[in-house]
Amino acid sequence: MNLTFNDEERMVIELARDFAENELAPIAESIDQEKRVPIEALRKMQELGLLGLMIPEEYGGAGVRTSCYAQVIEELARVCAAVAIVLSVHNSVGAYPILRFGSEEQKQKYMPKLAGDWIGAFCLSEAASGSDASALELKAKRDGDDYVLDGSKLWVTNGSIANLYLVMAKTADVPDKPHRGISAFLVEKDTPGLIVGKLEDKMGLRGSDTAEIQFDGCRVPASALVSEEGVGFKIAMQALDNGRIGVGSQAVGIARGALEEAIKYAKERVAFGRPIAEHQAVQFKLADMETEISAARNLVRRAAWLKDSDQPHGKEAAMAKLYASEMAHRVVHQAVQIHGGAGYIKEYPVERYYRDQRITEIYEGTSEMQRIVIGRAVIAE
Ligand SMILES: Cc1cc2nc3c(=O)[nH]c(=O)nc-3n(C[C@H](O)[C@H](O)[C@H](O)COP(=O)(O)OP(=O)(O)OC[C@H]3O[C@@H](n4cnc5c(N)ncnc54)[C@H](O)[C@@H]3O)c2cc1C
Repeated sequence: MNLTFNDEERMVIELARDFAENELAPIAESIDQEKRVPIEALRKMQELGLLGLMIPEEYGGAGVRTSCYAQVIEELARVCAAVAIVLSVHNSVGAYPILRFGSEEQKQKYMPKLAGDWIGAFCLSEAASGSDASALELKAKRDGDDYVLDGSKLWVTNGSIANLYLVMAKTADVPDKPHRGISAFLVEKDTPGLIVGKLEDKMGLRGSDTAEIQFDGCRVPASALVSEEGVGFKIAMQALDNGRIGVGSQAVGIARGALEEAIKYAKERVAFGRPIAEHQAVQFKLADMETEISAARNLVRRAAWLKDSDQPHGKEAAMAKLYASEMAHRVVHQAVQIHGGAGYIKEYPVERYYRDQRITEIYEGTSEMQRIVIGRAVIAE
Protein backbone atom coordinates (compact mmCIF):
# COMPACT_ATOMS: atom_id res chain seq x y z
CA MET A 1 0.00 0.00 0.00
CA ASN A 2 1.50 3.34 -1.06
CA LEU A 3 0.61 5.94 1.57
CA THR A 4 2.81 8.75 0.26
CA PHE A 5 1.50 11.77 -1.62
CA ASN A 6 3.16 13.17 -4.72
CA ASP A 7 4.12 16.87 -5.03
CA GLU A 8 0.86 17.86 -6.66
CA GLU A 9 -1.19 16.09 -3.99
CA ARG A 10 0.84 17.70 -1.23
CA MET A 11 0.07 21.09 -2.80
CA VAL A 12 -3.68 20.35 -2.85
CA ILE A 13 -3.59 19.22 0.78
CA GLU A 14 -1.65 22.32 1.80
CA LEU A 15 -4.11 24.50 -0.09
CA ALA A 16 -6.96 22.85 1.81
CA ARG A 17 -5.19 23.31 5.15
CA ASP A 18 -4.51 27.01 4.45
CA PHE A 19 -8.07 27.49 3.28
CA ALA A 20 -9.41 25.84 6.44
CA GLU A 21 -7.24 27.96 8.71
CA ASN A 22 -7.66 31.27 6.91
CA GLU A 23 -11.22 31.08 5.59
CA LEU A 24 -13.09 28.52 7.70
CA ALA A 25 -11.63 28.99 11.19
CA PRO A 26 -12.93 32.59 11.46
CA ILE A 27 -16.52 31.56 10.54
CA ALA A 28 -16.80 28.00 11.94
CA GLU A 29 -18.35 29.17 15.21
CA SER A 30 -20.75 31.73 13.73
CA ILE A 31 -22.15 29.48 10.98
CA ASP A 32 -22.86 26.89 13.66
CA GLN A 33 -24.66 29.40 15.86
CA GLU A 34 -26.54 31.02 12.97
CA LYS A 35 -27.33 27.66 11.32
CA ARG A 36 -26.02 29.10 8.06
CA VAL A 37 -24.47 27.38 5.04
CA PRO A 38 -21.37 29.49 4.17
CA ILE A 39 -22.12 29.92 0.47
CA GLU A 40 -19.31 32.48 0.08
CA ALA A 41 -16.75 29.94 1.39
CA LEU A 42 -18.13 27.25 -0.92
CA ARG A 43 -17.77 29.61 -3.90
CA LYS A 44 -14.13 30.20 -2.96
CA MET A 45 -13.59 26.46 -2.74
CA GLN A 46 -15.05 26.13 -6.22
CA GLU A 47 -12.68 28.81 -7.51
CA LEU A 48 -9.71 27.07 -5.89
CA GLY A 49 -10.73 23.74 -7.43
CA LEU A 50 -11.31 22.24 -3.99
CA LEU A 51 -14.92 21.26 -4.56
CA GLY A 52 -14.76 19.15 -7.72
CA LEU A 53 -11.73 17.42 -6.32
CA MET A 54 -12.30 13.88 -7.55
CA ILE A 55 -13.85 14.82 -10.88
CA PRO A 56 -11.38 13.84 -13.65
CA GLU A 57 -9.39 16.58 -15.35
CA GLU A 58 -11.02 15.82 -18.70
CA TYR A 59 -14.27 17.20 -17.21
CA GLY A 60 -12.60 20.19 -15.59
CA GLY A 61 -12.01 18.76 -12.10
CA ALA A 62 -8.79 18.23 -10.15
CA GLY A 63 -8.95 14.44 -10.61
CA VAL A 64 -7.04 13.64 -7.43
CA ARG A 65 -6.77 10.16 -5.97
CA THR A 66 -9.19 9.13 -3.23
CA SER A 67 -6.36 9.13 -0.66
CA CYS A 68 -5.63 12.81 -1.41
CA TYR A 69 -9.34 13.65 -1.35
CA ALA A 70 -9.65 11.89 2.04
CA GLN A 71 -6.79 13.96 3.44
CA VAL A 72 -8.41 17.16 2.16
CA ILE A 73 -11.64 16.26 3.96
CA GLU A 74 -9.65 15.62 7.14
CA GLU A 75 -7.99 19.06 6.84
CA LEU A 76 -11.36 20.78 6.44
CA ALA A 77 -13.13 18.77 9.17
CA ARG A 78 -10.30 19.54 11.59
CA VAL A 79 -11.57 23.12 11.48
CA CYS A 80 -15.17 22.92 10.23
CA ALA A 81 -16.94 19.57 9.90
CA ALA A 82 -19.98 21.18 8.26
CA VAL A 83 -18.05 22.36 5.19
CA ALA A 84 -16.20 19.02 5.03
CA ILE A 85 -19.47 17.14 4.57
CA VAL A 86 -20.58 19.43 1.73
CA LEU A 87 -17.45 18.43 -0.15
CA SER A 88 -17.75 14.76 0.77
CA VAL A 89 -21.38 14.45 -0.37
CA HIS A 90 -20.75 16.48 -3.52
CA ASN A 91 -17.87 14.24 -4.65
CA SER A 92 -18.55 10.80 -3.29
CA VAL A 93 -22.30 10.32 -3.51
CA GLY A 94 -23.09 13.21 -5.85
CA ALA A 95 -20.55 13.10 -8.70
CA TYR A 96 -18.98 9.63 -8.33
CA PRO A 97 -22.12 7.57 -9.16
CA ILE A 98 -22.45 9.50 -12.45
CA LEU A 99 -18.82 8.79 -13.28
CA ARG A 100 -19.17 5.13 -12.38
CA PHE A 101 -22.60 4.37 -13.82
CA GLY A 102 -23.67 7.32 -15.96
CA SER A 103 -23.83 7.42 -19.77
CA GLU A 104 -21.22 9.43 -21.67
CA GLU A 105 -23.99 11.94 -22.42
CA GLN A 106 -24.74 12.34 -18.69
CA LYS A 107 -21.04 12.72 -17.91
CA GLN A 108 -20.56 15.35 -20.63
CA LYS A 109 -23.64 17.20 -19.44
CA TYR A 110 -23.05 17.19 -15.68
CA MET A 111 -19.40 16.60 -14.83
CA PRO A 112 -18.10 20.00 -16.02
CA LYS A 113 -20.93 21.66 -14.09
CA LEU A 114 -20.16 19.69 -10.92
CA ALA A 115 -16.50 20.60 -11.37
CA GLY A 116 -17.67 24.21 -11.76
CA ASP A 117 -20.36 25.96 -9.77
CA TRP A 118 -22.94 23.19 -9.32
CA ILE A 119 -23.39 21.24 -6.11
CA GLY A 120 -24.61 17.65 -5.92
CA ALA A 121 -26.89 15.89 -3.44
CA PHE A 122 -27.85 12.27 -2.77
CA CYS A 123 -31.47 11.35 -2.04
CA LEU A 124 -31.95 7.87 -0.63
CA SER A 125 -33.50 8.14 2.87
CA GLU A 126 -37.23 8.53 3.42
CA ALA A 127 -39.44 8.78 6.49
CA ALA A 128 -39.94 5.02 6.60
CA SER A 129 -36.65 3.84 5.10
CA GLY A 130 -33.21 4.72 6.41
CA SER A 131 -31.04 1.70 7.20
CA ASP A 132 -33.55 -0.45 5.32
CA ALA A 133 -33.05 1.51 2.12
CA SER A 134 -34.72 -1.07 -0.10
CA ALA A 135 -38.04 -0.24 1.61
CA LEU A 136 -38.14 3.21 -0.04
CA GLU A 137 -41.47 4.29 -1.49
CA LEU A 138 -40.85 7.28 -3.75
CA LYS A 139 -42.24 6.21 -7.12
CA ALA A 140 -40.99 6.86 -10.63
CA LYS A 141 -43.60 5.92 -13.21
CA ARG A 142 -42.79 5.68 -16.90
CA ASP A 143 -45.01 7.97 -18.99
CA GLY A 144 -44.11 8.00 -22.70
CA ASP A 145 -40.60 9.41 -23.05
CA ASP A 146 -40.57 10.58 -19.43
CA TYR A 147 -40.66 9.36 -15.85
CA VAL A 148 -42.89 11.04 -13.27
CA LEU A 149 -41.57 11.09 -9.69
CA ASP A 150 -43.91 11.25 -6.69
CA GLY A 151 -42.96 11.03 -3.04
CA SER A 152 -40.64 12.57 -0.52
CA LYS A 153 -37.01 12.25 0.57
CA LEU A 154 -35.75 13.16 4.03
CA TRP A 155 -32.51 14.48 5.47
CA VAL A 156 -30.83 15.38 2.20
CA THR A 157 -27.42 16.95 2.84
CA ASN A 158 -26.90 19.96 0.51
CA GLY A 159 -30.67 19.70 -0.07
CA SER A 160 -31.34 23.44 -0.27
CA ILE A 161 -28.13 24.43 -2.07
CA ALA A 162 -27.79 21.61 -4.60
CA ASN A 163 -28.23 22.02 -8.35
CA LEU A 164 -28.37 18.30 -9.10
CA TYR A 165 -30.01 15.51 -7.10
CA LEU A 166 -29.32 11.80 -7.50
CA VAL A 167 -32.68 10.32 -6.55
CA MET A 168 -33.38 6.66 -5.79
CA ALA A 169 -36.95 5.75 -6.72
CA LYS A 170 -39.10 2.68 -7.12
CA THR A 171 -39.83 1.79 -10.75
CA ALA A 172 -41.21 -1.69 -10.06
CA ASP A 173 -42.66 -3.76 -7.21
CA VAL A 174 -40.48 -6.82 -6.73
CA PRO A 175 -42.02 -8.37 -3.58
CA ASP A 176 -39.24 -10.75 -2.52
CA LYS A 177 -36.37 -8.60 -3.72
CA PRO A 178 -37.51 -4.96 -3.39
CA HIS A 179 -34.01 -3.61 -4.13
CA ARG A 180 -34.36 -4.88 -7.70
CA GLY A 181 -37.23 -2.46 -8.25
CA ILE A 182 -35.14 0.62 -7.45
CA SER A 183 -33.70 2.95 -10.10
CA ALA A 184 -31.57 6.09 -9.92
CA PHE A 185 -32.45 9.42 -11.59
CA LEU A 186 -30.63 12.71 -12.07
CA VAL A 187 -32.98 15.57 -11.29
CA GLU A 188 -32.02 19.21 -11.80
CA LYS A 189 -33.01 21.74 -9.18
CA ASP A 190 -35.32 23.79 -11.37
CA THR A 191 -37.38 20.83 -12.54
CA PRO A 192 -41.08 21.64 -11.91
CA GLY A 193 -42.43 19.45 -9.11
CA LEU A 194 -39.13 19.32 -7.18
CA ILE A 195 -39.78 21.20 -3.96
CA VAL A 196 -37.25 21.92 -1.23
CA GLY A 197 -39.21 21.34 1.98
CA LYS A 198 -38.40 21.65 5.66
CA LEU A 199 -34.83 22.36 6.78
CA GLU A 200 -33.87 20.36 9.88
CA ASP A 201 -32.72 22.07 13.08
CA LYS A 202 -29.82 19.83 14.09
CA MET A 203 -27.69 19.05 17.14
CA GLY A 204 -24.48 19.58 15.16
CA LEU A 205 -23.17 20.22 11.64
CA ARG A 206 -25.36 23.28 11.73
CA GLY A 207 -23.41 24.98 8.93
CA SER A 208 -24.55 22.19 6.59
CA ASP A 209 -28.16 22.06 5.43
CA THR A 210 -30.31 18.95 5.79
CA ALA A 211 -33.56 19.22 3.87
CA GLU A 212 -36.69 17.38 2.95
CA ILE A 213 -37.08 17.17 -0.84
CA GLN A 214 -40.55 16.59 -2.21
CA PHE A 215 -41.36 15.30 -5.67
CA ASP A 216 -44.87 16.20 -6.76
CA GLY A 217 -45.56 14.99 -10.28
CA CYS A 218 -41.92 15.78 -11.05
CA ARG A 219 -41.41 14.93 -14.72
CA VAL A 220 -37.91 14.06 -16.00
CA PRO A 221 -36.88 12.75 -19.43
CA ALA A 222 -35.99 9.06 -19.74
CA SER A 223 -32.40 10.24 -20.30
CA ALA A 224 -32.32 11.16 -16.58
CA LEU A 225 -32.27 7.47 -15.67
CA VAL A 226 -28.76 6.39 -14.59
CA SER A 227 -27.75 3.06 -16.11
CA GLU A 228 -30.91 0.91 -16.36
CA GLU A 229 -34.07 0.34 -14.39
CA GLY A 230 -33.44 -1.84 -11.33
CA VAL A 231 -29.79 -0.83 -10.88
CA GLY A 232 -30.49 2.06 -8.47
CA PHE A 233 -29.88 0.11 -5.28
CA LYS A 234 -26.49 -1.08 -6.52
CA ILE A 235 -25.61 2.49 -7.52
CA ALA A 236 -26.61 3.77 -4.07
CA MET A 237 -24.63 1.06 -2.23
CA GLN A 238 -21.48 1.67 -4.29
CA ALA A 239 -21.86 5.40 -3.78
CA LEU A 240 -22.05 4.77 -0.04
CA ASP A 241 -18.88 2.64 -0.08
CA ASN A 242 -17.21 5.72 -1.47
CA GLY A 243 -19.07 8.07 0.88
CA ARG A 244 -17.90 6.11 3.90
CA ILE A 245 -14.28 6.96 3.07
CA GLY A 246 -15.34 10.62 3.18
CA VAL A 247 -17.22 10.29 6.47
CA GLY A 248 -14.32 8.32 7.97
CA SER A 249 -11.99 11.18 6.98
CA GLN A 250 -14.42 13.69 8.42
CA ALA A 251 -14.39 11.80 11.74
CA VAL A 252 -10.57 11.71 11.76
CA GLY A 253 -10.51 15.47 11.10
CA ILE A 254 -12.98 16.23 13.91
CA ALA A 255 -10.96 14.09 16.33
CA ARG A 256 -7.71 15.77 15.29
CA GLY A 257 -9.20 19.24 15.79
CA ALA A 258 -10.50 18.22 19.23
CA LEU A 259 -7.13 16.74 20.22
CA GLU A 260 -5.30 19.93 19.19
CA GLU A 261 -7.70 22.01 21.28
CA ALA A 262 -7.22 19.64 24.22
CA ILE A 263 -3.42 19.87 24.00
CA LYS A 264 -3.58 23.67 23.83
CA TYR A 265 -5.87 23.85 26.84
CA ALA A 266 -3.89 21.28 28.85
CA LYS A 267 -0.73 23.37 28.45
CA GLU A 268 -2.47 26.57 29.60
CA ARG A 269 -4.71 25.37 32.40
CA VAL A 270 -3.00 25.18 35.77
CA ALA A 271 -4.25 22.89 38.55
CA PHE A 272 -2.42 21.82 41.70
CA GLY A 273 0.44 24.16 40.85
CA ARG A 274 1.26 22.98 37.33
CA PRO A 275 -0.28 22.83 33.85
CA ILE A 276 -2.70 19.91 33.68
CA ALA A 277 -0.65 18.58 30.71
CA GLU A 278 1.95 17.63 33.30
CA HIS A 279 -0.48 15.39 35.17
CA GLN A 280 0.09 11.89 33.91
CA ALA A 281 -3.63 11.03 33.81
CA VAL A 282 -4.12 13.85 31.29
CA GLN A 283 -1.06 12.82 29.28
CA PHE A 284 -2.39 9.26 29.05
CA LYS A 285 -5.66 10.57 27.61
CA LEU A 286 -3.71 12.58 25.01
CA ALA A 287 -1.58 9.55 24.18
CA ASP A 288 -4.64 7.35 23.59
CA MET A 289 -6.32 10.05 21.50
CA GLU A 290 -3.29 10.46 19.23
CA THR A 291 -2.86 6.68 18.87
CA GLU A 292 -6.48 6.10 17.94
CA ILE A 293 -6.51 8.96 15.44
CA SER A 294 -3.48 7.48 13.66
CA ALA A 295 -5.07 4.02 13.58
CA ALA A 296 -8.30 5.42 12.13
CA ARG A 297 -6.44 7.46 9.50
CA ASN A 298 -4.61 4.33 8.36
CA LEU A 299 -7.90 2.45 7.97
CA VAL A 300 -9.27 5.33 5.89
CA ARG A 301 -6.13 5.43 3.74
CA ARG A 302 -6.23 1.68 3.18
CA ALA A 303 -9.83 1.84 1.97
CA ALA A 304 -8.92 4.80 -0.27
CA TRP A 305 -5.88 2.99 -1.65
CA LEU A 306 -7.95 -0.11 -2.47
CA LYS A 307 -10.49 2.06 -4.28
CA ASP A 308 -7.75 3.87 -6.20
CA SER A 309 -6.31 0.49 -7.20
CA ASP A 310 -9.71 -0.65 -8.48
CA GLN A 311 -9.95 -3.36 -5.85
CA PRO A 312 -13.03 -4.27 -3.80
CA HIS A 313 -13.21 -1.91 -0.84
CA GLY A 314 -16.74 -2.18 0.61
CA LYS A 315 -15.64 -3.99 3.76
CA GLU A 316 -12.61 -1.72 4.24
CA ALA A 317 -14.68 1.47 3.75
CA ALA A 318 -17.18 0.19 6.33
CA MET A 319 -14.34 -0.64 8.75
CA ALA A 320 -12.79 2.79 8.26
CA LYS A 321 -16.09 4.59 8.80
CA LEU A 322 -17.06 2.44 11.79
CA TYR A 323 -13.74 2.73 13.57
CA ALA A 324 -13.10 6.39 12.73
CA SER A 325 -16.56 7.56 13.83
CA GLU A 326 -16.50 5.61 17.11
CA MET A 327 -12.90 6.69 17.68
CA ALA A 328 -13.94 10.30 17.17
CA HIS A 329 -16.70 9.78 19.75
CA ARG A 330 -14.13 8.67 22.33
CA VAL A 331 -11.68 11.43 21.40
CA VAL A 332 -14.16 14.33 21.56
CA HIS A 333 -15.45 12.94 24.86
CA GLN A 334 -11.94 13.09 26.33
CA ALA A 335 -11.27 16.50 24.76
CA VAL A 336 -14.30 17.89 26.60
CA GLN A 337 -13.18 16.11 29.78
CA ILE A 338 -9.70 17.67 29.58
CA HIS A 339 -11.36 21.08 29.30
CA GLY A 340 -13.33 20.49 32.51
CA GLY A 341 -16.26 22.93 32.81
CA ALA A 342 -14.86 25.01 29.93
CA GLY A 343 -15.54 22.06 27.63
CA TYR A 344 -19.25 22.46 28.24
CA ILE A 345 -19.25 26.15 27.32
CA LYS A 346 -19.78 27.35 23.75
CA GLU A 347 -16.79 29.70 23.96
CA TYR A 348 -14.51 26.68 23.47
CA PRO A 349 -14.59 24.85 20.11
CA VAL A 350 -14.62 21.37 21.69
CA GLU A 351 -18.31 21.85 22.50
CA ARG A 352 -18.99 22.10 18.75
CA TYR A 353 -16.69 19.18 17.90
CA TYR A 354 -18.60 17.09 20.44
CA ARG A 355 -21.93 17.85 18.72
CA ASP A 356 -20.54 17.57 15.18
CA GLN A 357 -18.96 14.17 15.76
CA ARG A 358 -22.20 12.43 16.71
CA ILE A 359 -23.65 12.23 13.22
CA THR A 360 -20.59 10.41 11.84
CA GLU A 361 -21.87 7.29 13.65
CA ILE A 362 -25.26 7.61 11.98
CA TYR A 363 -25.26 8.89 8.41
CA GLU A 364 -24.11 6.97 5.34
CA GLY A 365 -24.98 3.88 7.38
CA THR A 366 -25.17 3.60 11.18
CA SER A 367 -22.44 1.78 13.12
CA GLU A 368 -24.80 -1.18 13.35
CA MET A 369 -25.13 -1.29 9.55
CA GLN A 370 -21.34 -1.07 9.14
CA ARG A 371 -20.98 -4.07 11.47
CA ILE A 372 -23.52 -5.96 9.35
CA VAL A 373 -21.53 -5.17 6.16
CA ILE A 374 -18.22 -6.18 7.79
CA GLY A 375 -19.68 -9.26 9.46
CA ARG A 376 -21.21 -10.55 6.23
CA ALA A 377 -17.95 -9.93 4.36
CA VAL A 378 -15.76 -11.82 6.83
CA ILE A 379 -18.15 -14.77 6.88
CA ALA A 380 -18.16 -14.85 3.07
CA GLU A 381 -14.36 -14.68 3.00
C1 LIG B 1 -27.54 15.28 9.34
C2 LIG B 1 -28.00 14.16 8.48
C3 LIG B 1 -27.64 14.13 7.14
C4 LIG B 1 -28.08 13.11 6.31
N1 LIG B 1 -27.79 13.14 4.97
C5 LIG B 1 -28.38 12.25 4.13
C6 LIG B 1 -28.26 12.39 2.71
O1 LIG B 1 -27.59 13.28 2.20
N2 LIG B 1 -28.93 11.52 1.93
C7 LIG B 1 -29.67 10.50 2.45
O2 LIG B 1 -30.24 9.74 1.67
N3 LIG B 1 -29.79 10.33 3.78
C8 LIG B 1 -29.18 11.19 4.65
N4 LIG B 1 -29.32 11.06 6.01
C9 LIG B 1 -30.07 9.94 6.54
C10 LIG B 1 -29.18 8.91 7.23
O3 LIG B 1 -28.38 8.25 6.29
C11 LIG B 1 -30.07 7.96 8.05
O4 LIG B 1 -30.54 8.70 9.16
C12 LIG B 1 -29.34 6.72 8.50
O5 LIG B 1 -29.03 5.89 7.41
C13 LIG B 1 -30.15 5.91 9.51
O6 LIG B 1 -31.47 5.72 9.07
P1 LIG B 1 -32.69 6.07 10.06
O7 LIG B 1 -32.45 7.40 10.62
O8 LIG B 1 -33.94 5.83 9.34
O9 LIG B 1 -32.56 5.05 11.25
P2 LIG B 1 -33.21 3.59 11.31
O10 LIG B 1 -32.87 2.83 10.08
O11 LIG B 1 -34.62 3.73 11.68
O12 LIG B 1 -32.40 2.95 12.51
C14 LIG B 1 -32.69 3.25 13.88
C15 LIG B 1 -31.76 2.39 14.74
O13 LIG B 1 -32.00 1.00 14.48
C16 LIG B 1 -30.79 0.38 14.10
N5 LIG B 1 -31.06 -0.69 13.12
C17 LIG B 1 -31.84 -0.63 12.01
N6 LIG B 1 -31.82 -1.80 11.36
C18 LIG B 1 -30.98 -2.62 12.06
C19 LIG B 1 -30.55 -3.96 11.90
N7 LIG B 1 -30.91 -4.72 10.86
N8 LIG B 1 -29.70 -4.49 12.84
C20 LIG B 1 -29.29 -3.73 13.89
N9 LIG B 1 -29.67 -2.45 14.09
C21 LIG B 1 -30.51 -1.91 13.20
C22 LIG B 1 -29.94 1.49 13.48
O14 LIG B 1 -28.56 1.16 13.46
C23 LIG B 1 -30.28 2.65 14.42
O15 LIG B 1 -29.51 2.55 15.59
C24 LIG B 1 -28.87 12.07 6.85
C25 LIG B 1 -29.22 12.07 8.21
C26 LIG B 1 -28.82 13.12 9.01
C27 LIG B 1 -29.26 13.14 10.44
